[in-house]
Order: sequence, then structure tokens, then C-alpha cells
Amino acid sequence: MTESGPRAPRLRLTRADLAALPSYVPGRNPADLARELGLPEAVKLASNEVPYGPLPGVVEAVATAAATAHRYPDMGVLALRAALAERFDVDPERIATGCGSVALAEHLVRTTCLPGDEVVYSWRSFEAYPIMTITNGATSVQVPNTPGHGHDLTAMAEAITDRTRLALVCNPNNPTGTSVRREELDRFLAAVPEDVLVVLDEAYREFVTDPEVPDGLAGYGDRPNVVVLRTLSKAWGLAGLRIGFLVGHPDVAAAIRKVVTPFSTSAVAQAAALAALQQEDEVRRRCALVVAERDRVLEAVRKLVPDVPESQANFVWLPLGERAVEFGRACEARGVIVRPFAGDGVRVTIGTPAENDAFLAAAEAAL
Ligand code: PMP
Repeated sequence: MTESGPRAPRLRLTRADLAALPSYVPGRNPADLARELGLPEAVKLASNEVPYGPLPGVVEAVATAAATAHRYPDMGVLALRAALAERFDVDPERIATGCGSVALAEHLVRTTCLPGDEVVYSWRSFEAYPIMTITNGATSVQVPNTPGHGHDLTAMAEAITDRTRLALVCNPNNPTGTSVRREELDRFLAAVPEDVLVVLDEAYREFVTDPEVPDGLAGYGDRPNVVVLRTLSKAWGLAGLRIGFLVGHPDVAAAIRKVVTPFSTSAVAQAAALAALQQEDEVRRRCALVVAERDRVLEAVRKLVPDVPESQANFVWLPLGERAVEFGRACEARGVIVRPFAGDGVRVTIGTPAENDAFLAAAEAAL
């Protein structure tokens, strides 16, 4: 085609199969909603963040790191990997970091699957799983949740075929808050072939209070075919800086470090994470506040929606089925942003006591 000539028929520039892919839905911006409703502020309980601000020392560490923003970060993430290794009592060679644990989950698909290989996971679970599976040319095998909204690990083990490369166990599960217990995970791991990598996605581990819900790192971290995914976005308060890590077999961690987007753990994120790791007592204190509020919200919301499952995370799940979207809209009209999943349920993050009260009042009015 010449510059002045007719346009060529429209070419397909991106993959046709992506049209059918659901998009990741971020929580709505509370400032926009407040403006729309003419309120001084809106409450955002849609993204599973912890509401208490950055941990002490983090803002200062970020400011210091920002002074060298014209330089690339340490690509090996050496200081942070050493600190994580010490904190979690593992060899630094077994650690890889990434731009949020969601990036690491995607890299795990990329490092294990060739086109047509299968990724087994429970559904409904973390909405990034189908996206990262399809975009890497792999095939999703979704095993329906139990009637109690949790993983059906027996069915997941049965769903493993010769094509399965990866099995994702989200514990606690986003968005339902349910968790897998030690005994069932033991049985599952015993049933999974050695050449299938099992990812224990523990983004919400710090909020777990049930002693029967295993800590994947402590309990299974040294199994060659187990990878534990953790994030600094939730309990550690760094969602906006994008940093997560995984612990796995040294070969797996090395493969991930090979495929990771170069320099994607930014210098600011590395510095912030190092500062946050110094604040473990404060993290525990904040998690205890979240857990106390979770139990209070669960009790209150069950008076409105009796079948809300137990949660070990920093959110609760309202299985409202076809009423989910309408409920989400009704909460928004009252200045509270929650996260509806059409036709299924609504996930509500635990916020401050005042935010949770605002949600409970909105829920009562909506229902
Ligand atoms: N895994 C699960 C189960 C999650 O819910 C999330 C965040 N929504 C992530 C991983 C990713 O978190 P991040 O990328 O912020 O580390």
C-alpha cells in the first residue's frame, strides 16, 4: 500500500483466541466513585489490600532508592533474596522474585508448558489463572469447587493427565476464602506424579489462623515438585510497588529467573521489601486486626447471607449467584466498592472497622 493509496483489508494483528478471554478486573477507583456520588470519600473493599498504609520505614526506603532512579536495579535481587532466605530459612538459590506474585505465576506456566500442555486448577479461583494459561498457549483444566466453595483436591488429582505440567492450589482460595487442610494436601501431593509441578499460591498466608491449614513453605517447601508463591502485596503492604517471590527447587527457581522480564523487580520495590521485612511485629499486629474484623464481619454478614463460607484470608465471599452484580451496584450506590463475580458471588475485602461498618450497613440496605 502506498501512502496515498487505499487501505489494505483489515489485518488481524493479535491472536483471535484472545477475544474470548475475560479481562482481569481491577477494583474501581474510590476517588472516581466519590466524585460521582458527591461523597467526601468512598470505601474500597475490592482488591484485598490491607488498609493501614505502608509499614514504618518503607516510605523512607522508597525515597532513598528513588535517588538512583536513573540506574537499573540489581537484576539478581541479591540483597532481598538473601533477606528472604534468612527470614524463611531457605537457600537463596531457591528464591525468585517478580513483579508481583502474579507475574511469577505466569512465568511458571511459561517455564513448564508447551502449547497444548495442561494446567489444572480449581474454579472458581484467582482470575489470573485462566488468563496466564491461555496467553502462554496452554490449556486450562478447571475442576469445579465443592458445594462449600473450596478446592476438590480428589477431583483435581483425577483430572491430571499425561499432558498436565502444572497444578495450582490457591490456599486460601481467592475469591472464596476457603482453605485446604493438611491431610487433604498430603493426599493430593502423594497422588500427583513427580513430573507435575504443584504451585501452592499462598498470597494470603499471613491471615491464616486455623492450625490445620498448612504453611506450604514449612510443610512442603523442600519437595522438588512443589513451588510456594508468596506476595508482599497484602500483609506486607506493598501492593502498589509490585513484588512477590517464590520458593522452589533450585532448578525451577533458576528457570524462572531466566524467563522473568529483565529488571522487573524494581529498585524501589527491592528497597521497600527490605524495609518491610524489618517490620514483622507490625505485620503481625495488623494481621491480627484484620483477622478480628474478618470474624466480626463473617458473623454479621451471615445474618444476611447464611451460607457465607469460613474465610482464612482478608476477605469474605458472599455466594449470591445471579444477585451478585446487582448487590455490587447497590453497595457502590452507597459508596462501598466490592468485587462482584457475575452469576457467582461477591468478594468483600476486610478493611478498617469503620470501612467494614460502612459495608455492613450497605449490605443490609442492599439485601
Ligand atoms: N495469588 C492470589 C491468590 C491473589 O489473590 C493475588 C492478588 N490478587 C496474587 C496471587 C497476586 O498478587 P501480587 O501480584 O500483587 O503479588
